[in-house]
Amino acid sequence: MNLNEKLQILADSAKYDASCSSSGSVRNDKLGNTHISGICHSFASDGRCISLLKILMTNICIFDCKYCLNRRSNNIKRAIFIPEEICEITINFYRRNYIEGLFLSSGIIKTPDYTMELLIKTVYLLRNKYHFGGYIHAKAIPGASEYLLKKLGSLVDRLSANIELPTENGLKLLAPNKDMQKVGKIMGYVRDNRNKNFVPAGQSTQMIIGATKETDLEIMNKSASMYKNYKLKRVFYSAYIPCNKDTFLPSINVPPLKRENRLYQADWLLRYYNFKVTDLLDENNPNFNLLVDPKISYSLRHLNEYPKEINTCSYDDLLKVPGIGVTSAKRIIASRKHFQLTFADLKKMGVVLKRAVYFITCNGKYNLKEEWFNRNFIESNLILEDKSESKESLVEQLRLFNE
Ligand code: SF4
Repeated sequence: MNLNEKLQILADSAKYDASCSSSGSVRNDKLGNTHISGICHSFASDGRCISLLKILMTNICIFDCKYCLNRRSNNIKRAIFIPEEICEITINFYRRNYIEGLFLSSGIIKTPDYTMELLIKTVYLLRNKYHFGGYIHAKAIPGASEYLLKKLGSLVDRLSANIELPTENGLKLLAPNKDMQKVGKIMGYVRDNRNKNFVPAGQSTQMIIGATKETDLEIMNKSASMYKNYKLKRVFYSAYIPCNKDTFLPSINVPPLKRENRLYQADWLLRYYNFKVTDLLDENNPNFNLLVDPKISYSLRHLNEYPKEINTCSYDDLLKVPGIGVTSAKRIIASRKHFQLTFADLKKMGVVLKRAVYFITCNGKYNLKEEWFNRNFIESNLILEDKSESKESLVEQLRLFNE
């Protein structure tokens, strides 16, 4: 099998890992055709967007996770790169400016230690023989020794170990070979030993959404506990893509992308907007409303706390207004020291007034008819708006899986 064939198989197999989100672009030059060979984008700690070559070292795997295309029992074309091949491809793409880094994952071949040794050999060669100074995100293989984890972490920028499913029960059902404790062990080790020479860009993980029956509340609680306990940089949510037949798998034809999107929005609220999981979901409302985003949903359920007076309310209260983001909230706090803000000022500051207008007053003035300040009216208007926006984003996301 030649290098291009391997690249097609192993880049295609990597697309199910959402730890970076793929995007395709087609170049006429065969070697740089990222539509097939999977270039994804990630964000550096300074917020810079970097493009990564996203590949598996091998799609051979001794495990048989029911949701995975690469599982042992599937009859698919298998391939494996030797370390030098990955280095050659990476460095060639890098020199041509197609990529700024590498996202390297792998099926488990022989044993976790054996797989980790191959990953280490690859990134060691890349760093020391090919003098590759770009960004490397590698998968840590649960169950591999601490010694190997230490070695891999000293060669890469970011590590991730995928938790895959939010509960032990889900894991037992669909990925019985996997062990949540082993994933936690990696995360704990990275948390305790991270420094500028060991996983400087931190760690992330992925959860598959919709393959098991866990509610959004269970998923968000799991994320919140991992952010807190392991200081993760990101939890990625990956809508379950039906690619295998199995009685334990849900019978759906389309990945639950809208749900995935709601989880990302809620995750953002937890990390940057000082929301808690209990603000967003509870036992009576264990799943996100798919019709409106989680912040709007929160505002509608707590309408008695609104409208917020822009010129006097706290920073935290500003962040609870739909249409006001972190940047615009900071601008509001800074500007209102000097003058009383009006609706026109808010627009100039980047506030999305078509959403915020329902939930705010400026100098005591509500900009809509007072009788419109009720849940039904606001909800139906915002649902219409969300529908028109999500139409575009769904098309964008579905493109990832069109191949
Ligand atoms: S460990 Fe499971 S999810 Fe990962 S490649 Fe193997 S079968 Fe797929």
